[in-house]
Amino acid sequence: MTLLSVAEAQARVLALGQVRPEEAVPLVEAAGRWAAADVVARRDQPAADLSAMDGYALRFAEGPGPWTVGLESKAGTSLPLPLAPGEAARIFTGAPMPQGADTVLIQEDAMREGPVLRRAAAAPARPGEHVRRRGSDFTTGTRLVAAGERWTPARIALAAIGGHGRVPVRQRPRVVLLSTGDELVAPGEDTPGVALPASNAPMLHVLLAGTAARVTDGGLLPDRMDALAEGFRRAGEQADVIVTTGGVSVGDHDLVRPAFMAAGAALDFWRVAMRPGKPLMAGRLGDAVVLGLPGNPVSALVTAHLFLRPLVDHLAGCPMPLPTISRAILAAPLPVSGGRAEYVRGRMEGERVQPLRERDSAVLLATAAADVLIVRPPHASALAPGESVDIVRIA
Ligand code: AMP
Ligand code: MG
Repeated sequence: MTLLSVAEAQARVLALGQVRPEEAVPLVEAAGRWAAADVVARRDQPAADLSAMDGYALRFAEGPGPWTVGLESKAGTSLPLPLAPGEAARIFTGAPMPQGADTVLIQEDAMREGPVLRRAAAAPARPGEHVRRRGSDFTTGTRLVAAGERWTPARIALAAIGGHGRVPVRQRPRVVLLSTGDELVAPGEDTPGVALPASNAPMLHVLLAGTAARVTDGGLLPDRMDALAEGFRRAGEQADVIVTTGGVSVGDHDLVRPAFMAAGAALDFWRVAMRPGKPLMAGRLGDAVVLGLPGNPVSALVTAHLFLRPLVDHLAGCPMPLPTISRAILAAPLPVSGGRAEYVRGRMEGERVQPLRERDSAVLLATAAADVLIVRPPHASALAPGESVDIVRIA
């Protein structure tokens, strides 16, 4: 099987998963999710003509006054009585305009002596000034949020003010993380001999924080066909995405692919033309998407950013889930790249990106200092400092 390009592999991973069914959730549970349907205003905003300032509500045509101050209107009061001719009302920000009043004279432009109100000579008043008309923001039936838009803080506020206590989203993708390898022990446990703390599951868990995913750590699986196949089958019963790490190379103990086949999975591909991350497996087991990430923590990190997170966002209804690629200026030279796309860890220093020296994909200390991946296409030529490169954020 030939190596797939990263773009083709990403498209195939997304095509393996169906967007989750719709549900309505309380406003705050929409964080990190996308609108599953249009949301339409159930009310006019503002619901009445309101004052935009502290001052006096009056009839503009009666200018320059004087007026007699009678009524008072503050936010939250129901519509105050109509103004009598020659009358003005004391009014505060957000308060409803009395019937008949059309303009607010702001406090700073008013002269008041007892009940008598005058406009200061310099006051630049026009009809309708400092009044927010009923429905000037939106009216009942206005589309506030379109299907596919992200539930940002401002859109949550908009939906709430539009009369909604719940909003439409896609059900959370259920992600199960499985760590494979006889050498692994749970983080924090004793590490006798060559035992290795299994860092991939907590890393991926944190990587998916802020997405819609409901992540479960399915624990450690040994390098044994029967145990792996059984673990995959069980995970498949309650997952939309099964993520494994390790065991996808071509060593004698890399049993993840055959074990998935034994469990009944249909595999789509298992190698991608990228560095790090070449052994990457994708397929389906029942209704679940299977993503087999490399065991190496750096490779797992890179492939999770490029494939896992986009898949989760896709299932959650994001219309454009692939990582955002932006540009940065190189702070140091980069050599020619080989036949595979390369993802070079880098650190942003202002507008410039510093490629990290350490290229060994096993070196974690350097990776922890990286906040971007520099994306190099296959066979890219050498670059000098000052040239610009594509980057993807990873921290
Ligand atoms: P594998 O793909 O199983 O050959 O693993 C590649 C490398 O990653 C080996 O050095 C493994 O010990 C290491 N590794 C595998 N799984 C994990 C994990 N969950 N956490 C940290 N390192 C791992
Ligand atoms: Mg292994």
